[in-house]
Formats: sequence, structure tokens, C-alpha cells
Amino acid sequence: MAGNIRNPYRTSNSGIELDLRSEMEDLLYGSSGEIAKGKKGLLRRMRADSSGDLLRCPCRDTATDEPDQDFFCRYCHGHGYFWDEYEIVYYKNDDSFRKVEGRVQEYESDMFFLEYSLDVSPSDFIIEIVLDNDGTPVQPVQRLKVYDIISADQFRADYGRVEFLQIRAKLQRKWSVWYEVTNRQYN
Ligand SMILES: [Zn+2]
Repeated sequence: MAGNIRNPYRTSNSGIELDLRSEMEDLLYGSSGEIAKGKKGLLRRMRADSSGDLLRCPCRDTATDEPDQDFFCRYCHGHGYFWDEYEIVYYKNDDSFRKVEGRVQEYESDMFFLEYSLDVSPSDFIIEIVLDNDGTPVQPVQRLKVYDIISADQFRADYGRVEFLQIRAKLQRKWSVWYEVTNRQYN
């Protein structure tokens, strides 16, 4: 067994160990023995120009440079930048708790789990949308809640490869109010 001392990884694969990538895929999309637990939603990525600068929305105030907060901007939805949305499938932990000095306190943010291959940055947002009873997005898409991504951590296991992404994101109350209004208005 001396050969294993220099190699931090044992190369034998018994086939019994869990493959976390495929476990995550089964969790999100389901398999022959598992019902899909993932929810469809949107990943909102701020749009950048060729030099990497974010594209500003005209609703930004010329004096303060702040996006308009008093009305719902249909172009940027209050971000102050243009963006694009992509459909994703996520698993969300709705009950995040932590212990603070012996007490249990609710986290100010929620935990999302995404596929390892997804390209996510902390400037992105996760959008919760309205789904029908079967989990299919209602058309036209109704945005329900916006979560501001705080951190995006890669969970690594087998040989150090990325198995899944762990995202911590905070609910943005302001947008939730706006979306309730606009969803009622347009649907
Ligand atoms: Zn705008």
C-alpha cells in the first residue's frame, strides 16, 4: 500500500460510492426511482458590453445616477442595468437556521443548490416564478420573487472535481411587491 502514500487519491473505484453529480441530477430532474425535486426558475444575469462594463438603463437619474425606485421600470425592473434571463432548475432549502448564542435564529438568506456546470456570479439574481400543479412554468411567465446572490460556492468532492453549486441568496422584498402588482395588472 506504499504506493498510495504519494498519491493523495486512491485510483480504485469500487462502484459503491455515490457520484454526487449524478445524485444532484437525479434530485433535480428525477430518475427511475426518484421523483424530481427541482423547481424551474430563472437566472438573471446583468448584461455587459465587450469591455465588461454593465449596460446602464436610461431610467438612471442623471444627477444621482440611481435607478428610479418610485416606479416599476419595465426594462431593467429596478436594477439600473439591462439583463438577460435563463431557465434553470434549482433545489431550494426553505428552512435555513443557525444557532446564535444558544438560540436558533432564522437566516437572512436562503440556500439554493444548482448543477455543477452552471455559470453563476455574485452579481446575478435567482428569480422564483409561478408554476402550475405539475411544476411547469405558467405562461406568460409570472415572476414571483427575486433573490440577490450573496455567495456562490463550488462543492468539491471526488478528486476535487465540482459536484454541485451551493448558492446563498437574499430575498429582495421591494421587487416582490412590484411583481405582485405587475402580475395582477398584465395577467
Ligand atoms: Zn430601468
